[in-house]
Amino acid sequence: MTDFQSLGLSKTLLKAVEDEGYTTPTPVQQLSIPPLLDGRDVLGVAQTGTGKTAAFALPVLQIMERRRTQGKRYIRALILSPTRELAAQIDERFDAYSKNMDIRHRVIFGGVKQNPQVRALNKGLDILVATPGRLLDLIGQGFVDLSNVEFFVLDEADRMLDMGFIRDIEKVLKLLPKKRQNLLFSATMPKSIAKLAGSFLNKAVMVDVSPKEMTVDRIEQKIMFLRKADKRRLLVQLIKEQKVERGIVFTRTKHGANRLVKQLGQSNLSAAAIHGNKSQGARTRALAGFKDGSVPILVATDIASRGIDVEGITHVFNYDLPNEPESYVHRIGRTARAGRSGIAYAFCDDSESGYLVGIQQLIGQEIPVDSQHEFHFIGAIPKPGQKPGKVKDSSGTKKRPRNSKSNNNSRGQNQRRPRRDSNNNQGSRGGNRNNNNRNNNNNNSNSNHRRGSNGSNRNRNEN
Ligand code: AMP
Repeated sequence: MTDFQSLGLSKTLLKAVEDEGYTTPTPVQQLSIPPLLDGRDVLGVAQTGTGKTAAFALPVLQIMERRRTQGKRYIRALILSPTRELAAQIDERFDAYSKNMDIRHRVIFGGVKQNPQVRALNKGLDILVATPGRLLDLIGQGFVDLSNVEFFVLDEADRMLDMGFIRDIEKVLKLLPKKRQNLLFSATMPKSIAKLAGSFLNKAVMVDVSPKEMTVDRIEQKIMFLRKADKRRLLVQLIKEQKVERGIVFTRTKHGANRLVKQLGQSNLSAAAIHGNKSQGARTRALAGFKDGSVPILVATDIASRGIDVEGITHVFNYDLPNEPESYVHRIGRTARAGRSGIAYAFCDDSESGYLVGIQQLIGQEIPVDSQHEFHFIGAIPKPGQKPGKVKDSSGTKKRPRNSKSNNNSRGQNQRRPRRDSNNNQGSRGGNRNNNNRNNNNNNSNSNHRRGSNGSNRNRNEN
């Protein structure tokens, strides 16, 4: 069995790893650390939760220690992360691993005052962990010099692209010196990521630890067909019946998350929301309450939940089905961590059946249907041959179809048949998100005016 020593790590780092209680390197660590210590670029396909932070942080720290510099500190390693939570977690890991070293690191992200960040930058840093928006803001104001960067890490690259950060990444890349070591981590490897990787990685070693079946097998999954208007009641019923002590509920929009927290409160269920419009303080408090068990239910949007690594989540509720099939896999992977089992419920209303088709195609299986609940609604079941993607109500109204309870086996006679919206089959990744966020851009950092008009700022308020 490989141990940390055989990977070539220094005594200082071995001690740090031991203090963290790690005994065996995870697969991504086993495969990434040796080539990184050799100075190679690495392209890693790995999700959060696989130990990928240590996979890049340990070798970066070791090489930095090997090549110590004199005089004022300058940024030698830049780690870009799509979300504040992930950035904060990465910085916290650097703190743990470098505690016996003379290394100064700092995380910067939007949504909080910039002054403390500027002070830290002025004092001099060795390692900077950042989200793209705030980084470019501070670069624009002349507070960040990237001209001496030796290591560039792009984390969760797929999510970066989903969030419309490609232009920001390109801008940052232009500011980096040519000679440097690069790492790119991504949970998935679509063509767009392969293209991005090809644009700046140099003869990279490919490390793929993506779980082939994802964690899907250990997770009991259920799909429940119902009307949108009944979702809340079913959720309350399930949480109460199953006495959920640690569950995460996913909504598609931030507004939906807020509303649901209120509604759960009205049913005497304590919940907290976590999404990009919440202040950093509120996000941290929500997570802390969830971790210590005082808040049993966390209501989250996909992007804000990325990178959240909380042990012991027993239930995942897909209150809204995600419009990106990959998000379903990420969501349900929040449960059944560390060999435990978990249950993932998915609520599907008649506007979401196309999303379900996409999800089932991606995971290569049909999710078992639970129709034994009082809200079962056959009008939400995908039609034979239905294509993946968004379903549009033909009338555009949300009127409840009459006489459409589940005991009616001639589906659709009295129901409006959902019609596919062919325009949305492919473009839905960015397009739908954009819509969801269109009204929510008022808390963006003040750098929005810098962004082009091509949508490159979409979703950046999640950052
Ligand atoms: P990451 O994928 O980097 O977010 O790491 C997920 C979690 O795994 C973090 O809580 C790490 O502290 C933990 N971790 C990382 N490497 C190891 C290891 N070799 N053994 C045990 N836990 C680890």
